[in-house]
Amino acid sequence: MMKSFTTRSLNIPFPKKDPHNALAMPIYESVAFDFASAEDIAANFRGELPAHVYSRTSNPTVEYFEAKMKALTGAHQVLALTSGMAAISATMLAICKQGDNIISGKNLFGHTLSLFEQSLSAYGIETRFIDTTKLELIEPLIDKNTRAIYFETVTNPQLEISDISQIAELANNHDILLIVDSTITPPSVFSSKALGIHVEVMSTTKFISGGATSFGGMIIDNGIYDWNKNPNCKAFAQKFGKDAFIARLRKNYYRNFGMPMTAHTANYMIAGLDILELRVERCYQNCMKLGEYFQQNPKVTRVDYPGLKGTAYYDLAVKQFNGIPGSVMTFDLGSQEECFRFMNRLQIIRRATNLNDNKSLIIHPYSTIYHEFTEADRQEMGIRPTMMRLSVGIEGAEDLIADIEQALG
Ligand SMILES: *Cc1c(COP(=O)(O)O)cnc(C)c1O
Repeated sequence: MMKSFTTRSLNIPFPKKDPHNALAMPIYESVAFDFASAEDIAANFRGELPAHVYSRTSNPTVEYFEAKMKALTGAHQVLALTSGMAAISATMLAICKQGDNIISGKNLFGHTLSLFEQSLSAYGIETRFIDTTKLELIEPLIDKNTRAIYFETVTNPQLEISDISQIAELANNHDILLIVDSTITPPSVFSSKALGIHVEVMSTTKFISGGATSFGGMIIDNGIYDWNKNPNCKAFAQKFGKDAFIARLRKNYYRNFGMPMTAHTANYMIAGLDILELRVERCYQNCMKLGEYFQQNPKVTRVDYPGLKGTAYYDLAVKQFNGIPGSVMTFDLGSQEECFRFMNRLQIIRRATNLNDNKSLIIHPYSTIYHEFTEADRQEMGIRPTMMRLSVGIEGAEDLIADIEQALG
């Protein structure tokens, strides 16, 4: 049994043997696939001869990325989609209908918040927002139409961590689905299955794609939720059993709403996955070195990274993410003007709004991502004018520190 994430990733067999014994999975840029006979294509449409037919439904290169994710996470079934937002929206559409509600962490990735507040509400699906780090606040919101509890493994830029096993127990007591967005904590440091999460969604655009090359999303069904318990999935559960959720997603959403990952993107994701563990480890080491540097620099008034001992969520970071809670950190200077001056002087760290690129990226959330929110809302959400968010990359730590040092000067 291979233990290392990287060894396993490099040795996951192709779904079909390559005729040339290629070591890398070929990119199947083909919309449609040929059948040997009219009988064969008819058998395929009856569900009796599994094969790729049309790449909006399935594709061999995408299938291999899915096979790798499935093997690496120990999932029951997975589905790769065009983006992280496609993964989240398809999941919600598959489990909710008009009149249903979900309970969600209140600090969310901005477009997820917009999806819940603006898009799903237009279809009569209500979201009840709550601070999921406080377990006792969740239960009173549950009613007979509650279909899921949803939150992010590490919120950003607040960097809060909820206790997953406790919330999983609560969800199980009420037969409600638990869905977690694990984008910030990739599968090399986090096992959603081990913590009792039923469904994991992630943006593979971030850590998995690696070089910020392409958009992708992933839905992981750990196979531990009884789909008969969700009235919207019940008919599928009776027909497909444990495969109900992914079957419903594939038949009613992925294909019909046009959310497929492309073969070319899957190729980037496959390559990114093989070196994921190395990159995440390097980012973490850099975060720790930067954290120590910030802590001893008098110009820096505050630093947050849950990998640092003594911070509020350190113990949960150790328990849930092997002590590696991703590579997003925040730090504060005396004023917004000081932040801008500092950011403008940086030469290696780039000013951009993405996360988990190989390059280190910095942003001032207060004046950008949250600029439309009122002052009171920003305060409530912990978005300070003095705070910057740093997504730490794989550069040499000494180069990052030198860049910061000269920019603070
Ligand atoms: C980026 C991100 C998403 C959305 O992913 P896209 O691939 O950009 O659609 C969702 N959740 C989190 C936590 C993210 O960081």
